[in-house]
Amino acid sequence: MGKVYLVGAGPGAPDLITLRAARLIEAADIVFHDALVHPDTVALAAKAVKVAVGKRAGQVSTDQRFINRQLVEAARHHAIVVRLKGGDPMIFGRAQEEIESLAAAGIEFEVVPGITAALAASAQLGRSLTRRGLARTVSFVTPRVMANEGPNETESDWLDAAVAADTTVLYMAAGQAPDIARRLIASGKAADTPVAIVENATLDSEQRILTTLAALTASRFQFTGPAVLCVGQVFAATQAEQVHSSRMRELHATRCRLA
Ligand code: SAH
Repeated sequence: MGKVYLVGAGPGAPDLITLRAARLIEAADIVFHDALVHPDTVALAAKAVKVAVGKRAGQVSTDQRFINRQLVEAARHHAIVVRLKGGDPMIFGRAQEEIESLAAAGIEFEVVPGITAALAASAQLGRSLTRRGLARTVSFVTPRVMANEGPNETESDWLDAAVAADTTVLYMAAGQAPDIARRLIASGKAADTPVAIVENATLDSEQRILTTLAALTASRFQFTGPAVLCVGQVFAATQAEQVHSSRMRELHATRCRLA
């Protein structure tokens, strides 16, 4: 019986992974990786069978139960099975379902943490999520509720948490940014609250936009890569950043027209 490693591949840049992750990927006999994992990271798995189990909003993705079964099956034939997930495996990554299914089958597992998108965005923006005097609470939130899942989840779960925290990072939310901004304002977040949107954080294609909740309600940004919405006073733009950001917005607008 093999062992399954749930490994965080980090936010994007292939060198933003832990040494433990790199060594395990190199040693793996089989690797199951998400669509968001950088090809160079997958390529570290020199001798492994590589299986893409895509999970990308709006695209065909492998059924979670099928992934769970594949992991169990792989552990019966291979010594080192790596399940490579974008960011940190334990943040909005369905790791618990995989862990439960491995545990139920009596298969050994280990989790190797990675850098989650919120922390990558914070680093790229040069903004502390917990800046002293401004923010002492952070929430990681997603408005997305998966079909056939979470019967106990209600909308207020994420909205209340997003409004209450000093700093909020929203995952899987960029596609509905204007709607989310409207809901945050309607639920009591100040309309002039600063917002930073980071798309493709840590990749060459990274884009950063600095705006406010009020401006976001009327925006028409389109994102081709994964993006996080970062909301809170810690993201207030300096003057230099405002200039940079408006240039980015023009680029975005051009790209949207071309698309
Ligand atoms: N486990 C991952 C999150 C998976 S959910 C993690 O810890 O980061 C997928 C969401 O993560 C995307 O919709 C987006 O909101 C965010 N995300 C992932 N990679 C990102 C990146 N490089 N830049 C910005 N957001 C990213």
